[in-house]
Amino acid sequence: MHYFEYKDGELFAEDVSLAEIAEQVGTPFYCYSAATFRRHIKMFQQSFADRDALICYAMKANSNQAVLTLIAKLGAGVDVVSGGEMKRAILAGFPADKIVYSGVAKTHAEIEYGLEIGIHCFNAESEPELIRINEIAKAKGVKAPVSVRVNPDVDAGGHEKIMTGKAENKFGIPWKKIDKVYELIGTLAHLEVVGIDLHIGSQITDLEPFAEAFERVGTLVTSLRAAGHNIQHVDFGGGLGVPYKNDNDIPPHPDEYAAMINKVAGSLGVKYIFEPGRMIAANAGILVGKVEYVKHGDGRDFLISDVGMNDLIRPTLYDAYHDILPVKQATGVETQLVDVVGPVCETGDYTAKGRELPVFEQGELFAIMSAGAYGAVQAGTYNTRALVPEVLVDDDRFAVVRKRVEVDEIIALDDVPDWL
Ligand SMILES: *Cc1c(COP(=O)(O)O)cnc(C)c1O
Repeated sequence: MHYFEYKDGELFAEDVSLAEIAEQVGTPFYCYSAATFRRHIKMFQQSFADRDALICYAMKANSNQAVLTLIAKLGAGVDVVSGGEMKRAILAGFPADKIVYSGVAKTHAEIEYGLEIGIHCFNAESEPELIRINEIAKAKGVKAPVSVRVNPDVDAGGHEKIMTGKAENKFGIPWKKIDKVYELIGTLAHLEVVGIDLHIGSQITDLEPFAEAFERVGTLVTSLRAAGHNIQHVDFGGGLGVPYKNDNDIPPHPDEYAAMINKVAGSLGVKYIFEPGRMIAANAGILVGKVEYVKHGDGRDFLISDVGMNDLIRPTLYDAYHDILPVKQATGVETQLVDVVGPVCETGDYTAKGRELPVFEQGELFAIMSAGAYGAVQAGTYNTRALVPEVLVDDDRFAVVRKRVEVDEIIALDDVPDWL
């Protein structure tokens, strides 16, 4: 569900015309709908309203400060994967005790920072990391709250680049080794066990792999408690998918997800933590671009646009599908089979291949749908292209929430040594 809809033949974000934003901001630009973000967070919170549960939005999906501020105001927590994201969380107003910190390569400085601000817990991913956290906590004379990320070795399907819960992935500690690792924690005086966590992958549209993994974790909670560890929470991670293609691959409703979790973990007496990212952000954002040229190639037609893989890398990186809609609603029934490509000098620079679209003309605006997650956060300046701006719409207002970083500013970051 989202709030990007046609009104009188023109695509709107809530009550703001996208053509109007394009006029003022230029293209390409990301556009987010505040109402959609709010709806998704509230829907998830609602599904667990009768439980002790905390939604920790995985900010790596979309970490714009305006988006984070909006989410913090709804009482949610946040899942961070770097010191930089921890800073963002604090600046956006998330209470430190609602921050969970994941990631396989936490540095000394990042762990220190987490301890200083007093985060809810470190989601540790290896034994050497636990040893490092213990040393730093000892030097500071504090106890560090830790959870161990278990790798349940389940195949959640999906694209190989976003699969994380298989034994061969770099994430987490193999579930067969978990007892030993909690034993190790028991010997490290400056660690305090608070929970256990997992995250099996992303864009999962089937409840089965979740249920399989969570059942394993449920068993672990029971055995770890029997061994004397105080497991207060289970962090189920993120991973719930979104419908990128209309009417295809429909993910479960958060209510169904909640029912499954209550079934496998409801009797454990633990606090629930969740780390949804994509499910909150994907359909809350679009990327608006312009057709620069319509090129009729040899047996193939191209819509050449001003949206490059540097602005949205998902099609290239994950073979992702995004719906493409004209900003001015197509009136005719005629369609054309096209590749939608960008300006970057790479064969991989495309947003759609062999797509049946309404007939577009040079200069026309289009919207790449469901681009709110893993879009702007992965944008770059390859080919010395300006960094794409972000706009937030709320009802009938809009604001540029990250300005376009212009080419001159990018070039000015370089230094030419005077000995050249
Ligand atoms: C990426 C990530 C998430 C969010 O995943 P989504 O599929 O976007 O919900 C949650 N937890 C961890 C540890 C992650 O790395």
